[in-house]
Amino acid sequence: MIAGHFGFAAGVKARAPEVPLWALMLACQWLDVVFVPLYAAGIEGLTPVESGHYGQVVIHADWTHSLLGAIVLSAVLGAFWRGRARLVIAAVAFSHWVLDLIVHRADMPLIPGGALRFGFGLWRWPIAAGAIELLLVAGGGALYWRAALATGARREANIAGVAVIASGLLTLALNLAGL
Ligand SMILES: [Zn+2]
Repeated sequence: MIAGHFGFAAGVKARAPEVPLWALMLACQWLDVVFVPLYAAGIEGLTPVESGHYGQVVIHADWTHSLLGAIVLSAVLGAFWRGRARLVIAAVAFSHWVLDLIVHRADMPLIPGGALRFGFGLWRWPIAAGAIELLLVAGGGALYWRAALATGARREANIAGVAVIASGLLTLALNLAGL
């Protein structure tokens, strides 16, 4: 899941305007950001299944995508912030794990190396997975757009509108390509 995480973060921005948008966008992808160097080092990885397109993978990411790993990484990112922002950033970082749980194919353990693995595997049904991502993008974008308009931030509202449409189209394209 990519666009869906951003959509969720945009929705949170509407409720926590004091937290910068860039920080929320970083937080919502934080587990995947940490995944990149671990992937490059061969510690975590991906195994393609079926067509090998978007979402057609089993992810071996026990450090970044185990429940324990997600909690620790979310707390670490939150620690850079003070007050309510600390809680908001940590919660948005952890939301990545919860949203990934919906689409991943039972490849997310409770602890690194754990035998019990979770994931509802919605990626097996690309249209349903795409619909959920679109809902998140449209819902989060709409919340942010409304909040920006209410505070008179017309420019931010326009940027949000364009970003929602662009990421919505990208999600759609990725899912269609996966068919
Ligand atoms: Zn992820």
